[in-house]
Amino acid sequence: MANRVLIPTPLRPFTDKQESVEVGGSTVGEALAQLTTQFEGLKRHLYADDGRLRSFVNVYLNDEDIRYLQREQTPIKAGDTISIVPSVAGGAPTAAPPHPARAGSLPELDADEFKRYSRHLIMPEVGVDGQRRLKAGSVLCIGAGGLGSPAAMYLAAAGVGRIGVVDFDVVDFSNLQRQIIHGTPDVGRSKLASAQDRIRAINPHVEVETFETALSSENALKLFEPYDVILDGTDNFPTRYLTNDACVLLGKPNAYGSIFRFEGQASVFAAKDGPCYRCLYPEPPPPGLVPSCAEGGVLGVLPGVIGVIQATEAIKLLTGIGEPLIGRFLIYDALKMRFRELKLKKDPACPVCGTNPTVTKLIDYEEFCGLRPEPVVAAGPAASNELEITATELKRRLDAGDRLVVLDVREPQEYRINRIPGSVLIPLGEVPRRYAELDEDVEIIAQCKVGQRSAKAADFLRTKGFRVKNLKGGILAWIDQVDPSQPKY
Ligand SMILES: [Zn+2]
Repeated sequence: MANRVLIPTPLRPFTDKQESVEVGGSTVGEALAQLTTQFEGLKRHLYADDGRLRSFVNVYLNDEDIRYLQREQTPIKAGDTISIVPSVAGGAPTAAPPHPARAGSLPELDADEFKRYSRHLIMPEVGVDGQRRLKAGSVLCIGAGGLGSPAAMYLAAAGVGRIGVVDFDVVDFSNLQRQIIHGTPDVGRSKLASAQDRIRAINPHVEVETFETALSSENALKLFEPYDVILDGTDNFPTRYLTNDACVLLGKPNAYGSIFRFEGQASVFAAKDGPCYRCLYPEPPPPGLVPSCAEGGVLGVLPGVIGVIQATEAIKLLTGIGEPLIGRFLIYDALKMRFRELKLKKDPACPVCGTNPTVTKLIDYEEFCGLRPEPVVAAGPAASNELEITATELKRRLDAGDRLVVLDVREPQEYRINRIPGSVLIPLGEVPRRYAELDEDVEIIAQCKVGQRSAKAADFLRTKGFRVKNLKGGILAWIDQVDPSQPKY
């Protein structure tokens, strides 16, 4: 009996890049067992050491979450589709708008605004009242990056009265491929200043509020409180869980989106009676198991599609029209040009929005996501020197003819951009099955772009008996300190 398991983009490196795999079996558990037997490397991504499915991996049979069927015992029949939906570095009743139209309670439109919004005004679903609701409405965009850029621009154009933006970054050349709120002359400026200028140029009727800060447990509730809708455009797990929990605690809907390579996700979390991000993913993946966009890349137009979906949902929530994406999880595959929709239920056992929540105030999200740096034990510098090497020291040892292998653990397409001469390429995902190609008697210098992936490779290789040092700062440090002629990315 053949069934299809759909493999999401972040896990495709472990299935020889296949996006779907045919498996047999009579239950979901048997099908997944076949899958992980066929693709050994997938196992640690799907199962914890105790053999249970990891909590940041959700499995759907067709469009139903198996947690609400018979979990891994759920029977399957020929032609069923099993989807693996990991968290990536995101038909409900109409939601009541936050600003109901009571006589005189909504702001009036002036003559300029009647002209500007005429294409909204002539639609019965929006009309003058809907436009006044938008004017009364407010949206806080977390981040002025890939998702925040198109979202904030469309929200401004649509006439949302007050738009807040939280960011603390500076515009970089590598942002311009997708962060369309910023232009080439903005490189080096604060993203907030650049976003504010652009929003004002699109629509001077919009009030823009900027918050040059990192979102934290200390400031989140205060920042979110004055807004009707929160638009999550974050690119990391601590901020995503923080945004979710703050939205649940305040009862604010969260127009959620996330992107990776060619695949995007969107939903509306934390709306009244709707599920939250933690109902879907109670816990984050361990650090490093899911690559970030900086490591894995992202198609430039992808955040355009997802950010505009988030803006659409925010506009629907503010005006109270249509069916919001509450209780539904949308997955978009740009390469196939295909949308899939999965049902999402509110989990009564959810730690933050469930019946007996254990999270009743904001927590330390860095620690929750396992990102708190470990305390330095014993002699710091000496200990780290044992395991690390600087680019200049590596250059000196290579010039001296020391016997060593530089192991580059990046992806082949990154290796094409720049490399250390003579280095051997084995991408991180392939190291567990290819390490035997390396000579155990020769010292290895592991290297990647900035030194994070190679640190993982080094840890792994040490468990296999290799002598390994990690190149501090990766190829970028090599270019800065040794060979400035190579391009950076
Ligand atoms: Zn929840």
